[in-house]
Amino acid sequence: MKRDISPDAPECLRLTREDMTNTRRNALLERNRQLGRIEAALARMEGGQFGLCTQCGEAIPRDMLEADPAMARCQDCVEIC
Ligand SMILES: [Zn+2]
Repeated sequence: MKRDISPDAPECLRLTREDMTNTRRNALLERNRQLGRIEAALARMEGGQFGLCTQCGEAIPRDMLEADPAMARCQDCVEIC
């Protein structure tokens, strides 16, 4: 079946400027979120708290930190939230 992607296509098939703006905004928000997590991890490192769960204080397993060095909470606390 031939799909109609011409400018006259139904609204649901068109990628609008608004869609692209939203995509870019979401990418920026995600980048800022990641930056915030990394800065918080660096602050924990400077404060000697790196690798400890910010919620319960238990050590975060090494494999979790290797997968995501900015991990702030242990598996148990991540699952509770
Ligand atoms: Zn915890």
